[in-house]
Amino acid sequence: MADISVTLPDGSGRLVADGSTVLDVAASIGSRLAQAAIAGTINGTDVDVSTVVKDGDVVAIVTTNSDQGRHILRHSTAHVLAQAVVQLFPGAHYTIGPAIDDGFYYDFALPNSQTFSDDDLRVIDKRMREIVAAGQPFERSELSADEALLVFADQPYKCEIIERVRSGVADGSDAAEVGAAETISVYRNTDSFLDLCLGPHVRTTSQLGHFALMKVAGAYWRGNEKGPMLQRIYGTAWENAAALKEHLVRLEEAAKRDHRKLAVELDLLSFPQELGGGLAVWHPRGAIVRKLMEDYSRQRHLDGDYQFVYTPHLANAQLFETSGHLDFYADGMYPPMEMDNGVYYPKPMNCPMHCLIFDGRQRSYRELPMRLFELGTVYRYERAGTLHGLLRIRGFTQDDSHIFCTEDQMADEITSLLDFVMSVLRRFGFYDFEFNLSTRNPVKSVGSDDIWEKATAALAEALHRHGVEYKVKEGDAAFYGPKIDLDVRDAIGRKWQLSTIQCDFNLPERFGLEYVGSDSARHRPIMLHRALFGSVERFFGVLLEHYAGAFPAWLSPVQARVLPVASAHEDYARTVLNRLKKSGFRADMTAADEQLGKRIRNSKLEKIPYVLVVGDDDVANDTVGVNPRGGEVERDVAVEAFIQRLDAEVLDGQSGGE
Ligand SMILES: [Zn+2]
Ligand SMILES: [Zn+2]
Repeated sequence: MADISVTLPDGSGRLVADGSTVLDVAASIGSRLAQAAIAGTINGTDVDVSTVVKDGDVVAIVTTNSDQGRHILRHSTAHVLAQAVVQLFPGAHYTIGPAIDDGFYYDFALPNSQTFSDDDLRVIDKRMREIVAAGQPFERSELSADEALLVFADQPYKCEIIERVRSGVADGSDAAEVGAAETISVYRNTDSFLDLCLGPHVRTTSQLGHFALMKVAGAYWRGNEKGPMLQRIYGTAWENAAALKEHLVRLEEAAKRDHRKLAVELDLLSFPQELGGGLAVWHPRGAIVRKLMEDYSRQRHLDGDYQFVYTPHLANAQLFETSGHLDFYADGMYPPMEMDNGVYYPKPMNCPMHCLIFDGRQRSYRELPMRLFELGTVYRYERAGTLHGLLRIRGFTQDDSHIFCTEDQMADEITSLLDFVMSVLRRFGFYDFEFNLSTRNPVKSVGSDDIWEKATAALAEALHRHGVEYKVKEGDAAFYGPKIDLDVRDAIGRKWQLSTIQCDFNLPERFGLEYVGSDSARHRPIMLHRALFGSVERFFGVLLEHYAGAFPAWLSPVQARVLPVASAHEDYARTVLNRLKKSGFRADMTAADEQLGKRIRNSKLEKIPYVLVVGDDDVANDTVGVNPRGGEVERDVAVEAFIQRLDAEVLDGQSGGE
């Protein structure tokens, strides 16, 4: 057979025999690559490894240890799950089963509204492993809609999807199953089991197996609350046993760190039912941590030449008409309140009110950049089902700032903002940052080409000046301006989106904001929105999980606890306590009416950084026994020396933030 030539991703060419598949191309490069190959792309389109390549194609091999590879692995495992359920639960209807972050799910409708139990999951897991061991092929074929309707005649949800494809109204949730093409692709595993699917898939089920079923949850068909309730089984799948295990350990660690659990255990805050969903009360121990966070933020803002403002929680509808929130953001707002002199809304954002402050009198270029800062509480509508501890709540306080500046000041301002944001986050123990730059959506945006170019260049320039890498999210910007998002990785490698620096060409226009320039003419300022913590509540939740409740000394609700060994040492213990308090530390003492061992254990459970035990020798020598969280006990430490040590640690917050 004649050879054909394909191009590899690095631009190099390769000759393969006519009729070669993607897998043959992989094998021609190396046997290990062929072994790890799970799918491929031809000219940018995802394909199975069994797909035949043509002369001139650009061919890439997808391996299992890539994001794309894992996606295929997970989606293929979802097919295996569906087959197991259909075999074990006669009359079960299978609906859709996409890959998601770290795993996959599949939604089922069981006859007579049955639900899956934990025992069922074990049985399903066992059957799935049998299917894997059987090494069933994934065979692709393409059917007309009529043929597909026949094949899936006893599967009403599949028929519904096929009908939607046929009538050209398939949407995103169908797209993972079938493309909006004329023919419908299916993947067959056995004579009796096949599934609608766009592919690609692994070659055989024997390439799968490093999976675990996680849990069952209810889910509405197509997310429609009025539609049928389905049973969703979640699973995770990985390229090898080690990667699966690592993931399960990470989940276990994450569960231990769940901020909702820690908030109760450490008596930090609660969500009383009487308040309604998504609303928290802060207990003294949580409140002191929050106050320290806020104090630190305030001090940094003062040092950074911000001016503090306060604005009300309610505003007349007129304000939100001017700002455009009632046009573009009504879904995120709470219902209006009819009052004697008009209709009022709880504010979903502070920005419109900061615009009013800027507009309070005539402004000169000499006042710019004007940096306004507020710990401003806002209210945003969240459906009950989406609430999640402090991470998703209905009322929260933003560390919100709006910077009004000239076009020429924009680049420097953004650069120093980025500095400011990273430096504050480092203080809270975050060192691993990722940046995203969202650029103009060509379909929907306000503002001139010129200003978009300038602002986008200013954001990119700021990132370059910091020498950081970033991802460009093309067309992902809001209609009113480009932005930088900053994600951090926490102590167990999870990613959290925290800070945003957002350019805005819209609000200054809507509010008719102006300043008088050095040329005595009127100009429109640029507005920058900047949230650093995002919201104080959410940041607190992230921080709680990041530190697993063990706050560094500067943030700990109680920094040191004094424990007298016996009641004879209580007087001395009290003098130590008073000295700590006089030195400005948050300290307390537990009297000797319980066993020392028990008191030490309780203090550890409360994650107090330092437990100071005092006995006979300490009374005689003015010393303490220092029992640090997670460290070795040190005896006979002079009280003064301990105070100096703690002082230094609190001053240098980072030493506690490891
Ligand atoms: Zn599939
Ligand atoms: Zn804003």
